[in-house]
This record gives sequence, structure tokens and C-alpha cells, in this order.
Amino acid sequence: MALLRRTGYVNLSLGRCLEGHVNVVRLVELYGTPEQRRAFAQTLKSGILAGIWVTDGTPPVIIRQENGHYRLTGVKGFASGVKQVSLALITATNPQGHSIMLLAPTTEADRRRPGPGTLTGMQASGTGGYDFTDVIIPPDHLLGSTGDYLRQPEFSAGAWRGSAVALGAMDRLVDLFRQELLERGRAANPHQLYRIGEALILQKTAAMWVEQAAKAAYAPRMKPDDVVATVNLARLAVERAALELITIVQRSLGLSAFVKGKAVEQVMRDLMTYLRQPAPDEALTDAAAWFLDHDWPEDGL
Ligand SMILES: Cc1cc2nc3c(=O)[nH]c(=O)nc-3n(C[C@H](O)[C@H](O)[C@H](O)COP(=O)(O)OP(=O)(O)OC[C@H]3O[C@@H](n4cnc5c(N)ncnc54)[C@H](O)[C@@H]3O)c2cc1C
Repeated sequence: MALLRRTGYVNLSLGRCLEGHVNVVRLVELYGTPEQRRAFAQTLKSGILAGIWVTDGTPPVIIRQENGHYRLTGVKGFASGVKQVSLALITATNPQGHSIMLLAPTTEADRRRPGPGTLTGMQASGTGGYDFTDVIIPPDHLLGSTGDYLRQPEFSAGAWRGSAVALGAMDRLVDLFRQELLERGRAANPHQLYRIGEALILQKTAAMWVEQAAKAAYAPRMKPDDVVATVNLARLAVERAALELITIVQRSLGLSAFVKGKAVEQVMRDLMTYLRQPAPDEALTDAAAWFLDHDWPEDGL
């Protein structure tokens, strides 16, 4: 958690790439055979960056078996570090309609695609697309069984890592905010003090949620549904805290927070983009439905 938070502080795009790398390590550790884990560890020792590219582009990635190996077709649409990642964990759909994870090499420059287009923030994450059409995958590059990627609680619990990175950006924003008010001699103003207090509360609230979510993700005695609901709420609590913090910083610094090229503007722009994570409504309402008739799982933590 400290590493992800610290990296988010330094640079949110770097944090996104590190978070993807760690996610791949975690999934190989969970679902790989001993031989796959050994081989992957060896590959990582050469210093490569791994990526997790699951969001499909057009057309989506399909996998078909042929003559003892597998052939892919289709495009991954949101691929962070598309020029830096050399091995990606991707999902592909088989002819039966089931999703399977696999490790694929991603070093061919002419397969790179524009992806989602130019994002307003997170440009340094180098998020593009990658075309896997006619990439051949040996059987020992398939990871786990069909459906493992979506298996709970890991599928939702892993979101704590993205929240830890976002928290790092909040830390940075609070520091930049305090620093600028001090430098401009505006920090002692009671309205500004009020907002600094509010910002500190938001920062600490997000930190407590992230810690709670990280503990839940690794709590062996906690029910899987408790883990999922806790991490889902944590993800949204951090999102809300970060959005409120951005509003406070903009109100306090005024137009100075909108000057392109200033660190405070860059961090806010990256953070607003980074906070767009999948299915937020579902995460909130699923967690609400679970906790309707379950108490908060203090015991398992
Ligand atoms: C900088 C950056 C880097 C990324 N890198 C990667 C990467 O390396 N690999 C990767 O796989 N992905 C990556 N992604 C994509 C990411 O994983 C998500 O797919 C993306 O962030 C989802 O955001 P969204 O707002 O479009 O989500 P959505 O889930 O589309 O949510 C948008 C809104 O629609 C609602 N909604 C969701 N589903 C439905 C539905 N069925 N019907 C009606 N409403 C719905 C949501 O609740 C929300 O209100 C990256 C994204 C960003 C921003």
C-alpha cells in the first residue's frame, strides 16, 4: 500500500502502470501453475514492465484452438504503457463464450493502435490500443480456467490498489495546496483555514478506507461477499473524497489552479481522469444490497 500510494504521489500515470504490473503478479501468483509462476518470475527479473489489458476494443479479443496452439483475433482498447509493456495479461473469449486469461507478448510496434483517443488527463500513462490479430499463443501461456478473471473476491478486491494510487495523488494535492497558500500569504485567512481542515479530513478519510480495503483483500477469515462489498465502498469513498478535494482546491487557489503546466493543475487533471473506473453505480448498489442484511465485518479484519 505504501509503495502504490507513494508512486501515486510522485506521478499518477506511473502509479497506473505500476498498479497494472502488480495486478499481473498477483493473478499469476493466484492462478498460475508452479511452472508458470517460476517462468514469470524469471521474466520479471529481466526488468520488464507487465500490463493488464482486459478492456476490449473493436472487435473484442477472441481465442481459438488450432493444431496444438491458440490463435487470437481482435483488439484491446485501453492498454496502459502500450509502448513500454512487453508482456500483457489479457482476457480473450473462446467460441463457447467463456473468458480466459493468458499472457501475450506485446512488443510489436505495428500492432499498436490509438486506443480511446487523447484523454484530457493521464496522457503520460501512454494508454493506447493493441491489435492481437493472428498472435499465436502456446498452451502454457493460458492462465487458470475459464471464468477465473471474474472470480470473486479477487476480481473486485483488487480495486484497493487503484484506490491506493489515487490516495497518493490526493496526498500530493493537499501538499501543493498548503504550499501555495503559504507562499501567497493566504493560509491564515479563516475561510482558507476552514478549507484546509476539510481537505485534511478528506485525505485522512480516504486513507482509512484504503487501509480497510487492503486489509479486507487479504483477510483469510472474511466472507468473500464481505470483502467485495467493503472494497467496493472503499473505492467509491476514495473517489468521492478526491472529487471533493479537487473542488476545495479549485475554490481556494482560484484561477491559479487552472494554469496548464503547473503541478497542481496536472495532478487534478490526471486524478479526474484516473477516477473513472468501471461500473461505479453497480459497485455502490451491490455493496448497499449486501449490507442491507449483513453487519459490518469487523471480525475478519
Ligand atoms: C488512464 C487510464 C488507463 C487505463 N488503462 C487500462 C489498462 O491498462 N487496461 C485495461 O484493461 N483498462 C484500462 N483502463 C480502462 C479502465 O479499466 C475502465 O475500463 C475504464 O476506466 C472505465 O471507465 P468508464 O467511466 O468508461 O466506466 P463505465 O463502467 O462505462 O462507467 C461509466 C458510467 O456508466 C455506468 N454504467 C456502467 N455499465 C453500465 C451499463 N451496462 N448500463 C448503463 N450504465 C452503465 C457507470 O455506473 C458509470 O456511471 C484505463 C482507464 C484509464 C482512465
